[in-house]
Amino acid sequence: MQSPPLGADLEAAIERLPDAVLIADDERKYIYANPAACRLLGIDRSQLIGRTLGDFTVLEDDAVSGAWRAFLLSGVQTGSFRLRRPDGVVRDAEFSAVANIRPGIHISFLRDVTEQKRAVEALAESERLAKEAEAALCLSERRYRSVMEQSPLSMQVFAPTGETLSVNRAWCSLWGADAGQLRGYNILQDQQLIDRGLMVYVQRAFAGETQELPPVSYRPPSGIYQGQEIWVRAVMYPIKDDAGRVCEVVLIHENITEIERQQTERAAQADELARSNAELQRFAYVASHDLKEPMRNVTIFAQLLDRRYRTKLDSDAISYIDEIIRSAKRMSEMIAGLLEYSRIGLQRDLVLKEVDMRDLLSHALENLKLSIAQTGAAIDIGPLPRISCAPLEIVQLWQNLVGNAIKYGGDPPSIDISAEADHAEWIFAVRDQGIGIAPHLHQKIFELFKRLHARDYPGTGLGLTICKAIVERHHGRIWVESEEGKGATFRFTLPK
Ligand code: ADP
Repeated sequence: MQSPPLGADLEAAIERLPDAVLIADDERKYIYANPAACRLLGIDRSQLIGRTLGDFTVLEDDAVSGAWRAFLLSGVQTGSFRLRRPDGVVRDAEFSAVANIRPGIHISFLRDVTEQKRAVEALAESERLAKEAEAALCLSERRYRSVMEQSPLSMQVFAPTGETLSVNRAWCSLWGADAGQLRGYNILQDQQLIDRGLMVYVQRAFAGETQELPPVSYRPPSGIYQGQEIWVRAVMYPIKDDAGRVCEVVLIHENITEIERQQTERAAQADELARSNAELQRFAYVASHDLKEPMRNVTIFAQLLDRRYRTKLDSDAISYIDEIIRSAKRMSEMIAGLLEYSRIGLQRDLVLKEVDMRDLLSHALENLKLSIAQTGAAIDIGPLPRISCAPLEIVQLWQNLVGNAIKYGGDPPSIDISAEADHAEWIFAVRDQGIGIAPHLHQKIFELFKRLHARDYPGTGLGLTICKAIVERHHGRIWVESEEGKGATFRFTLPK
């Protein structure tokens, strides 16, 4: 090891100095390094001697030589640079150097400032982040403000104590007041809200739960709706801080006067419709009931005429009487159907019973046994479920559908009856292979007295109307799938 070319006292002091001291010759080669310098550069003294600064910096060689020349010229240099140790560790250092402390001998003092530099950088970064966060906050505050101002909904913001912090433009125009008039107002003591039973919602919102208040009506004393009744729907949102404490509560009012008016109107119309329907049904019932008697008399007297005077009448008169009897019979059937139909509408509440659908179908087939026997109809029945229904009405439903399938189902009729489950309902089907129905008539056939084949088949045109009434009373649907000449499948649903 070489000793520093200085006096012995100075040499001892430099050896103990916590700062790195390096002495170099004119060729930049280190001729001395104190222990602090060896620690800083991460290298043994024996290996350090003879090396140059170039071995320890991240700078290019040219830059190092330039700086060296400038140093020799100026005689003193201070600055900072980034050094790379042989083990690859990079450190930041500050230095002061004095050239030619003796001719051809140059000294430099280095201090490791990596930690300070990092601390300064970290501080700058955290300041930058804080600024960014503040800018974001400003932006979201601005956004919140402009959304609030532009919103067509009336908004009012409360402090946790219940006092108003701010209101928006829509609020001012709805209530005809300005924010100044709210001084001294505290929502938690609002007597109107207490009287209307709404305070419980307000309190819950202030306790941290979002609340939807039931619609209420007001008559604002001023503003665009002054003196008029308006309906308002309100929602209250608590805004919480990071700790979950409510720091503001927002009250949003929506003016639903128009919606409410339309709803009331619709409800009144529905009531009116139900009332007139019920009246119509009662009328149909009374009319058809009262028509039965005179109709029976027409039939009886026409038959009497026929029996007693047939021999005395000419053939024209006899055919007229036959026509009277036929028409009277048809009229009686129609009256009976109408009576049946109006009866279904008049029974308001369904009395539901849990029954086996198979039993109800058997009952209907029993009523149809004559026509089944006469036509030789083949009826195939799949598994049927138990359901909850008004049993007699469902017997009638089967009877009408299977009756039609026999009547319009070909010769001999071949009929399939089945059921399938679908989510919350059962779908039942009666399928025949008969004359079918053109698609544009699929809706029509469910209308009162609507018949497509009146000339060729007997009937009143009421069977499917009654089916529809029964199914709809059970909250189900009924429809037909068919094409002309390709058979028909009538399906109806009933809730499970
Ligand atoms: P109707 O007493 O005439 O049978 P419905 O109300 O039961 O009265 O049926 C209305 C019309 O729908 C019938 O006149 C017939 O034209 C048609 N229709 C009903 N069921 C079928 C079917 N299974 N196949 C073809 N047409 C049918």
